[in-house]
Amino acid sequence: MGNKQELQGFVNGARSRFEDMLAQMVEVPSISMDSSHAADMRRIADLAMQYLTDLGADAQIVETDGYPIVSGGWTTNVHHPTVTVYNHMDVQPAQEPEWKQAPFAFKNESGVYRGRGATDDKGPALSALLGARFAVEQGWPINIRFLWELEEEIGSPHFSAGLKNRVAIPRPDSVVVSDTIWAAKGRPAMPYGLRGLLGARLTLRTGSKDAHSGLTGGAARNPLAELMEVAHACVDAKSGEVKIPGFYADVVEPTKSEIKGFLKSGFQVKRFKEAYGFETLRMYAPAEVTRRVWAAPTFEVHGLTGGYHGPGVKTVVPGHGELKVSMRLVPNQMPEKVFAMLRKHVAKVNPNVKVEREGMLRPFKGSFDGPYVECVKRAAKAGFGKEPAFIREGGSIGAVVTMQNAWKVPILFMGLSLPEHGYHAPNEYFDWGQASGGMKAFAHYFAELAKMEQR
Ligand SMILES: [Zn+2]
Repeated sequence: MGNKQELQGFVNGARSRFEDMLAQMVEVPSISMDSSHAADMRRIADLAMQYLTDLGADAQIVETDGYPIVSGGWTTNVHHPTVTVYNHMDVQPAQEPEWKQAPFAFKNESGVYRGRGATDDKGPALSALLGARFAVEQGWPINIRFLWELEEEIGSPHFSAGLKNRVAIPRPDSVVVSDTIWAAKGRPAMPYGLRGLLGARLTLRTGSKDAHSGLTGGAARNPLAELMEVAHACVDAKSGEVKIPGFYADVVEPTKSEIKGFLKSGFQVKRFKEAYGFETLRMYAPAEVTRRVWAAPTFEVHGLTGGYHGPGVKTVVPGHGELKVSMRLVPNQMPEKVFAMLRKHVAKVNPNVKVEREGMLRPFKGSFDGPYVECVKRAAKAGFGKEPAFIREGGSIGAVVTMQNAWKVPILFMGLSLPEHGYHAPNEYFDWGQASGGMKAFAHYFAELAKMEQR
């Protein structure tokens, strides 16, 4: 690693550039979920490409059947190792009434950067970019590439097809993903696992229309009650235990040392409760709460539709109903296999219920030891003064599994977001502490990778 003061000088000098870049990016409402923002998606791709070329990197917009992918970076020498940094440039919608400002009007309150997309994921992307710029100025023997997706918030439907363009998006020697959240401020956290997802719609039709219970009740079947019975047969509502036979067969339980790692992250049950507005929980021991949200599978009921939803009670016997469910899956549960189990189980409980799949993502498990992990540890220490805790994420990032399948190279995580930054929530922000620490951590990470390959 070069001169520490030199890096500090670079970071201080980069601040206004970082703030200008972030401001421009936040002011483009790149909402991939909303097709009326198609022109903004094009604008963000152009802006991202311009940022790369302004800093002296090569860059191109890679077209897909959906929104494009921006690919670029610095190739110093084809014999040097190549690392690809993954971020995304699309954002969540921002219609929540709790916003205290226009969500796409960037505000800089002395190092607090407010606006949709500031922390998810534009701020972290630009921090990594400037860290890379320092590495390139130092002439370290490493190729650094950036892969900026524009469809992460809609489940990455065209990412896998995009990666087939091996000329525009070459296969690296390793990947670092910067799109995750620490469990607490002041303690870097490196996830090494993500849960997968399997959604399903369970529908039951017992009549062509709603009927009056005074005229038909007793003889008529009730599809909502029958669907509730199916839900009850799939999950114990109190404990959350999944009752589908075979569901847990492939689950790899976290080890004791993994749970110890979770507890080092600074996770606090009280804060978790406050952050999500929970009055009570199923359990309170931190080891069990972290295990359940990061490393255990779930069966969740999201909605039951059909019948009457207006004020008061209307005595209908519904003609049909729909139960919306999903399961978070953990290593090594395969969504295809779990879906077959669900279908078989539902058929046994109620053969008239139709089961349809609604999207799926595989779980991911990387490693938390080995040479790349050592590099991440030293980088986090250099950037933030502390080694990272090793945690898992309860959510899913489809692109991670896609890159793993396409490239079969180590995938590491260096997220820069904090729980209070408001991921996917109103009043989202990012801050200079995380940005400047992030630039340093990334610069160190690139130095470590360059050194590792020379050993
Ligand atoms: Zn994100």
